[in-house]
Amino acid sequence: MADQFEQRIRKLQKVRKRSLAEMRRAQGRRIAALNDKRWEDARSAKRVVRRSRHEAQRARRDIAVIRRARKKASAAKRLIGKLRPAGSGLSYFDGVRCATWIARNLAKVRAAGRWAGRLVSGFRDPRYSTSLCYAMCGRPSCPGRCAGANSNHSGIWFPAGAADVSDYITFGAECRRLGLPLHNNLPIDRVHYSNSGH
Ligand SMILES: [Zn+2]
Ligand SMILES: [Zn+2]
Repeated sequence: MADQFEQRIRKLQKVRKRSLAEMRRAQGRRIAALNDKRWEDARSAKRVVRRSRHEAQRARRDIAVIRRARKKASAAKRLIGKLRPAGSGLSYFDGVRCATWIARNLAKVRAAGRWAGRLVSGFRDPRYSTSLCYAMCGRPSCPGRCAGANSNHSGIWFPAGAADVSDYITFGAECRRLGLPLHNNLPIDRVHYSNSGH
């Protein structure tokens, strides 16, 4: 897993080095052109300086992003070891309470290093689920969208339980790739993951 990050960092470091070298060469050309009063050459060298500096800066930013993702992934890896066993009620993930079996799977997805999202909503008190649907739809529950008191968000023990996540497309792809028991089967609620998909 570390290799996946390391490879991308090395590639970007090469890009950065090449851009910086190109920038220095163009700076040299610009100075020579200015000395010879070749203004057009000096201007075109200046454009190359700007472009290659910009490329080097972008590579540096991308490297920082990958390093942060790597840090997050290894923290998630450590979290898997610290979380309670899957059968033990509720846990916290990203500061949000959710079924422990789900928290363990979220940590696995994050540890794989591709998902950039977070847990937005996990466990909900059944009364709260009902009030959410009342607020949105004026009913205690509505098929396909709000399960009300029967929502998987009110479940604690596998296979019950649900999580709403951001970066949900990557999240779903990662669950499939890693063979994890979290699915989405609600075309109008794409952020919602549970064992059944509902
Ligand atoms: Zn509703
Ligand atoms: Zn949901």
